[in-house]
Amino acid sequence: MKIKVLGAGGGEVTGSAYLVETDHARILVDCGIFQGGKQAVAMNRFDLKDVSNLDAVLVTHAHLDHTGRLPLLSKLGVPAPVFCTQATLELTSLILRDSAHVQEMDTNRVNRKRQRAGMRAIQPLVSHEDTEDIIGRLIAQPYDSQLPVAPGIKASFAEAGHMLGSSCIQLSIEDQGRMKKVIFSGDLGPKGAPILKDFEELHTADAVFMETTYGDRDHKPLDETVNEFISIVKTAVAARGKILIPTFAVGRAQLMISILASMFRARHVPPFPIFLDSPMAIDASKIYFNHKELYDEELLEFIKQKPLMEDLASLKMCPSAEDSIAINKVPGPMMVLAGAGMCNAGRILHHLKYNLWKPETHVIIVGYQGSGTLGRRLVDGAEKVRIFGEEIAVKATIHTLGGFSAHAGQKDLLDWFSHLAPAKPKLVLIHGEDIPRKTLGSMIMERFGTEAIYPSMNEEVSL
Ligand SMILES: [Zn+2]
Repeated sequence: MKIKVLGAGGGEVTGSAYLVETDHARILVDCGIFQGGKQAVAMNRFDLKDVSNLDAVLVTHAHLDHTGRLPLLSKLGVPAPVFCTQATLELTSLILRDSAHVQEMDTNRVNRKRQRAGMRAIQPLVSHEDTEDIIGRLIAQPYDSQLPVAPGIKASFAEAGHMLGSSCIQLSIEDQGRMKKVIFSGDLGPKGAPILKDFEELHTADAVFMETTYGDRDHKPLDETVNEFISIVKTAVAARGKILIPTFAVGRAQLMISILASMFRARHVPPFPIFLDSPMAIDASKIYFNHKELYDEELLEFIKQKPLMEDLASLKMCPSAEDSIAINKVPGPMMVLAGAGMCNAGRILHHLKYNLWKPETHVIIVGYQGSGTLGRRLVDGAEKVRIFGEEIAVKATIHTLGGFSAHAGQKDLLDWFSHLAPAKPKLVLIHGEDIPRKTLGSMIMERFGTEAIYPSMNEEVSL
């Protein structure tokens, strides 16, 4: 049996995809897109020989860097079924449709330029048809049940605590008369994060493919971050200011809403208008609301005492552009949650343009800001920024809160592996830049005596 690294190897964090091959079966675990960097476009092509004759595809969770290349399988005519949890099925459908739409808009813009320059039009990486075809092939499976997915291979999904529906995938593989267990961690969440259950402890494995995104550091404790958030909101509300939060539509937006609900219930501040100004975040929130079986005990207890919507009576969903424009007329105190999370596109740009120059505005950055984005320039203290071609002075207060990560820090990664270490598995470290990957590897060696391997892209790991 061998496993080929088709993404998130060799110090790369995106593009997760692993081809598991036995004498009788071929399956793909995750099918993510490469993001960022000029090479991403080239890397997002599959070599047909890697994905032909697939028996099945398994998906750990809905994020694009784990699902974004799924429509390419349709494009290449690979007819395999795609298994995942029910919440992952729903969120993946939402995210893939949005991604196809964004790609189409981007391609149209590029093509208008190319046309004017007398150049040939280009095609988007994936089409709406490919996207709908693969969405039609998603099959939901319950957590913790063994499912035959290919000749001699059974799979089961265990909670990963990273986003709604996220899972670690455990494969039981019959290989030359012996059963072998291979675990893919997917992305692991931090312990104790709101809304979601913590990752499930797993105990047996012959091989473990483990993510290492934050293998070299720990996040600031969440309760410290929440307290900081509360005190910013209190200050802004007292000054009748507007609070703008650029936020990712899936996961982060729902986390912020749950924190606001508990703030209001605890009477830290009286309720004030909150606008969820993102059609995608609204759809994702509905999926979150519908999956109470995935909530942790704290949230279940919280909603048992009183429905969440009673705390959130001042929350207004803004699906249409008109709803969004109307927000400009609302006086402070108020809060807007809008995408894109890094301020590089989306409705947040309009709100920033109208409010960044006002000293009573507060911008709270709650997620990672990639270099070159408007969000990063704000975090770095720019005094002026350009939005829609206009120069805007930054008089608002910019706050950066680093403790809301959806990823396990070093301590929690070590905790997750500690339950598997006694089984002495072959450990394959993936999904991390070189320093986090190597740092975690040496800590695991020191603590558990397990030597890790660090595959490069397209390397085959034999078991
Ligand atoms: Zn993820």
